[in-house]
Amino acid sequence: MTDTIITRCEAKGLRMTDQRRTIAAVLQDSDDHPDVEELYARASASDPRISIATVYRTVKLFEEAGILDKLEFGDGRARYEDADREHHDHLIDMNSGEVIEFCDPEIEALQEKIAEKLGYRLKGHKLELYGVPIKKPARG
Ligand SMILES: [Zn+2]
Repeated sequence: MTDTIITRCEAKGLRMTDQRRTIAAVLQDSDDHPDVEELYARASASDPRISIATVYRTVKLFEEAGILDKLEFGDGRARYEDADREHHDHLIDMNSGEVIEFCDPEIEALQEKIAEKLGYRLKGHKLELYGVPIKKPARG
């Protein structure tokens, strides 16, 4: 069991106001990739006094502290996820905007091999696939 976002913020010495705690709790409960507007909708459901500007500043602060990963999938909306989540890559459905997570051991191994061939030890990577659903042939 890893630490929560709140305990990691505290460990980094961030001052945790009530609103920051609420936003951290919302992020903790999210297993998708919300953008600021979505986080604002979820956070204001538990504390209606929270403003979108506060959400924006808070996720930026958490991102700078290495607690959140910022993801940009080319649609101009920054999305966030817990930086401590187990490594995975993303496939973005270009029609619906849905983000699908995957982790493929062959891709992982191949990337290490490529880095090694180029004289590097791999320390991390980001892989984003963009696709549209394959239409199933009509029956009959
Ligand atoms: Zn993800």
